[in-house]
Amino acid sequence: MAKTVKDKLSILADAAKYDASCASSGSKRSNGGKGLGNTTGMGICHSYTPDGRCISLLKILLTNRCIYDCRYCVNRVSNDVPRAGFTVEEVVKLTVEFYRRNYIEGLFLSSGVVMNSDRTMDLLAEVARQLREDEGFHGYIHLKGVVGASNEALEKAGRYADRVSANVELPVQRDLDRLAPEKSIDEAEGAMRFLKSGIDESRARGRRPRIVSTQSGPRQRSRAPRRFSPAGQSTQMIVGATPSNDASVLDTANRLYQTHKLRRVYYTAYSPIPNAHQDLPTESPVLVREHRLYQADWLLRFYEFTIDEVVTQDDGNLDLEVDPKMAWALAHREFFPVDVNRAPREALLRVPGLGTRSVGRILKARRRRRLRVADLRQLRAPLKRVMPFLVAADGWETAAKTLDRGDLRKRVTTDDRQLLLFEAQTSAKNGQV
Ligand code: SF4
Repeated sequence: MAKTVKDKLSILADAAKYDASCASSGSKRSNGGKGLGNTTGMGICHSYTPDGRCISLLKILLTNRCIYDCRYCVNRVSNDVPRAGFTVEEVVKLTVEFYRRNYIEGLFLSSGVVMNSDRTMDLLAEVARQLREDEGFHGYIHLKGVVGASNEALEKAGRYADRVSANVELPVQRDLDRLAPEKSIDEAEGAMRFLKSGIDESRARGRRPRIVSTQSGPRQRSRAPRRFSPAGQSTQMIVGATPSNDASVLDTANRLYQTHKLRRVYYTAYSPIPNAHQDLPTESPVLVREHRLYQADWLLRFYEFTIDEVVTQDDGNLDLEVDPKMAWALAHREFFPVDVNRAPREALLRVPGLGTRSVGRILKARRRRRLRVADLRQLRAPLKRVMPFLVAADGWETAAKTLDRGDLRKRVTTDDRQLLLFEAQTSAKNGQV
């Protein structure tokens, strides 16, 4: 019996849950009173806003049929699971109907590879084209960038989507050779390279004034062309499916950020899938590993830490008991205490518990007066966490008493565990440290 759209939705939404590379969009677009929907800068896909709201998107696969056999993937060709596929028109209709009913704020569309990468990318991009051009849809669209697709197909995707993500899948080529021998990191980077050039060109074009000559009057600005993938590109890496340690995960992420200017690398703890291949572990890595990777990622990008500094364990993995900034601070107590009234920004950023925003507030406030502990409380610095590492005008004793204590690690570990539950839900995906 032919599957109904509802049957397909149940199969293809379930199959899409393994892809984590969709979150905050970072793009803003208003419909200007015409068409359907707006995209806001807060982020769209299953993501948490700072006030804890979950914002939603329709996250589905176009099809879970696939010609490839990646061993970690539930949709691999050798896996015996129910298969289904939408038509382009069905996805467009579903998106519009869900949007009108206020169920979703955007679409995240991925797919198994049907026929070949090029054809698959073209079908995904066609959904986005019809939504934008035929339906006037201004909501967020995130498309999977199919690795191996032609530049033309990727260009079409970038023209209509807010974000395109080509997945690198595993941290190193050796892991791919073992679990997905048809894939290569070089090929994934080829797609990223093309997307980056499209994004760069589009940004450069956006900065130049667009002037056109007209026969009858003064020169006028032309209508703005659609920006290419305005929310940038991202990628996903599965961790824990192979023995690769956190240092190699972060090393690859760091390189991808620097080379292709990715907005985000998403780390997904491998979760055992039905009928898993024998080469895969039977259990997921502890979920806190994923959380620590997000924290380390943030330190590398915004706090001027290096991989050697965040990875403090001999086995090349992150310390799971405490966050990577705290782990570094505990291992480098000679660096502390930092004087809140004199230290440069870089030193303040090394204090566990002080984020870029708190440091900004401290720098501003100390221009007017010497800061005391009470001022730090007023500036919303988490006192219990920062005080062992900081001295304020009246706080020397607190730091001096606690910094050399043998049980400091134990004390902060207990605090960290309490924070963890909350952070894992909220700040990790937003990358706060
Ligand atoms: S190409 Fe994608 S959908 Fe197909 S088996 Fe590999 S990971 Fe799964």
